[in-house]
Amino acid sequence: MKILHDYSLPELKSELETIENKMPRFRAIQIYDWLTNYADYSEMSNIPQDLREKLAKEYICQPVKIESELISKDGTRKYLFSLPDGNIVEGVLMSYKYGNTICISTQVGCRMGCSFCATGIDGLARNLTAGEMLSEILAVNKHIGGNKADRKITNVVLMGCGEPLDNYDNVVKFFKLLSSKEGLNLSQRNVSLSTCGLAPMIKKLADEDLGITLTISLHATTDEQRKKIMKVANAYSLKELFFAIKYYFEKTKRRIVFEYIELDINTNPEDAERLKALCKGLSYHMNLIPVNSTPHTVEENPALKPASKDKAREFWEELKKLNISATTRRTLGSDISGACGQLRRSRLKENN
Ligand code: SAH
Ligand code: SF4
Repeated sequence: MKILHDYSLPELKSELETIENKMPRFRAIQIYDWLTNYADYSEMSNIPQDLREKLAKEYICQPVKIESELISKDGTRKYLFSLPDGNIVEGVLMSYKYGNTICISTQVGCRMGCSFCATGIDGLARNLTAGEMLSEILAVNKHIGGNKADRKITNVVLMGCGEPLDNYDNVVKFFKLLSSKEGLNLSQRNVSLSTCGLAPMIKKLADEDLGITLTISLHATTDEQRKKIMKVANAYSLKELFFAIKYYFEKTKRRIVFEYIELDINTNPEDAERLKALCKGLSYHMNLIPVNSTPHTVEENPALKPASKDKAREFWEELKKLNISATTRRTLGSDISGACGQLRRSRLKENN
């Protein structure tokens, strides 16, 4: 079965012509509107019944279903989404004064194998299609009372399960669908992509002329440290990574965001100095993240030892002294399996 949300409006029109050879443009627009409202075939009241039946035989119109919703004390909502093949991914909705940010998944699992992350434990099962990524947003928008005309989702971050730059073509197509005028029309300025640092793909992304914010999961200031916690550091050195980041910055002039988990090994005063040196010439912000429970224990990998509260605070002060803009991220929804991959992981365990 094909997924209707994988098509842009012009693609949908040609696709529909394979079903009925004289498909008027207005019909494609009507269907596209229903898809953007995340409607089921039964809701598509202005589409002839026989066309709906033909479509239903070949195409899925709601590829992502909300399997469960957990609401945290702080209002953060965590979703488990089921996909047409039964796979499960997760998403998070965070509400702020200025709007609602949704964090979506880009892959089922991940093959980057960062040692602190629950998503990577079983490797990569498959990539999500562009339409599946879009449908995570459409499903939640509908669930919280939004629709195409009254969109409740204002910001999107690619920070759920998966490494977006390891699913490059689908992710770029997804950005185009998300910001298309006929669809949700969400500005690329309100979209962030988080990556563990696939340097060549960062350069490629810079050349796409998109307006999105690049977020880098940095987590270390030397290659030696980084290799202890992130396999990707064996493929790309910090020098190569920063070369790519600077290229992205030069091309887009967008401020770069860094994610940095507070470990004992990476929060020494020298780390602050090295960070400053690495980021020379960039406009950037540091998000400091208290490390959430990890799939490996500190006995298995001593590099995962969290920084003490005092050490983390001193590190933040050190950054401030160096005029580095840094905030410690509130651990949103930590009572409902905060970090990426943890909720899905607990569901998979339940099922086995
Ligand atoms: N693959 C992308 C995006 C998904 S991971 C990336 O790595 O950037 C989203 C963020 O969660 C990353 O910054 C990642 O480093 C962080 N993360 C994963 N496991 C974590 C944990 N146990 N504690 C804190 N942050 C974690
Ligand atoms: Fe993959 Fe990101 Fe998890 Fe690393 S942190 S394993 S890149 S999802």
